[in-house]
Amino acid sequence: MIAEYEIEDSDKVEVVARKTSLPKCARCWIHHSSVGSFSKHPGVCEKCFRVLEETYDY
Ligand SMILES: [Zn+2]
Repeated sequence: MIAEYEIEDSDKVEVVARKTSLPKCARCWIHHSSVGSFSKHPGVCEKCFRVLEETYDY
């Protein structure tokens, strides 16, 4: 059962990756053109960048 779910998941990710050429956010895994445009957090999208900036107090 668990193995079947894992196979389905990896298929979905592959399909999504083929549909868009936009970079993928390392934090929320959405594809967005803003990923990579922040030198402070180069691997995340605009949304996650703002979250990281607001909660970066530890
Ligand atoms: Zn993100």
